[in-house]
Amino acid sequence: MSASASVVGKAELLGLTLEALTAFVVDDLGERPFRARQLYRWVHQRGETELERMTDLPAAFRGRLRERADLTPLRVDLEQRSIDGTVKYRFRTHDDRLIESVYMPSADRRTLCVSTQVGCAMACRFCMTGTLGLLRNLTAAEIVAQVHEVNRRVALDEALPISRPLSNLVFMGMGEPLHNFENLKTALTILQSEEGPNFSHRHITVSTVGLVPMIERLGAETDVKLAISLNASHDAQRSELMPINRKWNIAALIDACQRFPLRQGRRITFEYVLLQGVNDTDADARRLVELLRDVPAKVNLIPYNENPGLGFQSTTEGRAETFRDILAKGHVAAFIRANRGRDIAAACGQLANLQGGEARQTL
Ligand code: SAH
Repeated sequence: MSASASVVGKAELLGLTLEALTAFVVDDLGERPFRARQLYRWVHQRGETELERMTDLPAAFRGRLRERADLTPLRVDLEQRSIDGTVKYRFRTHDDRLIESVYMPSADRRTLCVSTQVGCAMACRFCMTGTLGLLRNLTAAEIVAQVHEVNRRVALDEALPISRPLSNLVFMGMGEPLHNFENLKTALTILQSEEGPNFSHRHITVSTVGLVPMIERLGAETDVKLAISLNASHDAQRSELMPINRKWNIAALIDACQRFPLRQGRRITFEYVLLQGVNDTDADARRLVELLRDVPAKVNLIPYNENPGLGFQSTTEGRAETFRDILAKGHVAAFIRANRGRDIAAACGQLANLQGGEARQTL
């Protein structure tokens, strides 16, 4: 399935953990281990992409790196700014695939919504990315590169004296993160590393449609926060909206959530897209209260971002509020999430790089 994204014969440097980079630098390039650490810091702490600027590395070493390693798996080819401050970045991979990341600044944080696949195999009926199908997984380097590229641009745009302005990462962009688990995990190891960008587990959320065995692995092998795209209150409804539910139904999903290791005080976020006349009734809200009775949960109610041709409509504001109030009365914390970046098709479920003729051709 996965066409190689790497530049032929070159190592994808951004996707190597410090351990793997050390093995590469020592075994393949014949350098001492401390050079790997220096290089890792340049690349992941300072976000440097130009070998020329890594002035404390010997010229011969830089020369070999130039031949053997790729430091820029993505290049920004479109940047769209929303009136609300959201910025959508479209990236082009070496094999000419297009992916998108969404930067969302707010008063107390700078969040990046990161993509993990080109397209998506999950085929949720209401989601635009789902209409693309899965083209391929992103490599760990391509996942990490989104963060570095946006850090660099935000620091420049906002004239910030820091190399890592992003504070939070949400894996809610294109693709199903747990369907690309190994690369996701490698990317998280790098992004959370102290000698790298050093993101805290408290500031990283991975969202899934509910790949039950992978939820277990996420809990066992990482320490990041979990979000579940629930979007329905009973199986028939969920199977209709989200085909994955035919494989792992709501009971299996809730069971996986109950077993998910939660650090003290932490809750699982449940995302629930409100679709008019489909899943937004009082009865749905009451069923949701029952489902989440024994799960430390927080519900994000997402007003549906309408996508042409998919046939769903957003619920009214009043309906969303009533829905939230029923959850609150049932002691389920619920928030109506503000919509961001709708004007540039950067909102939830709108990432499908359809904004340009060129993009359409490529896909
Ligand atoms: N595949 C993962 C990561 C993507 S997150 C997952 O589904 O969790 C994207 C979120 O946007 C999901 O919660 C999804 O349910 C929601 N979504 C999809 N299409 C949407 C739309 N048109 N309007 C609002 N939310 C949407």
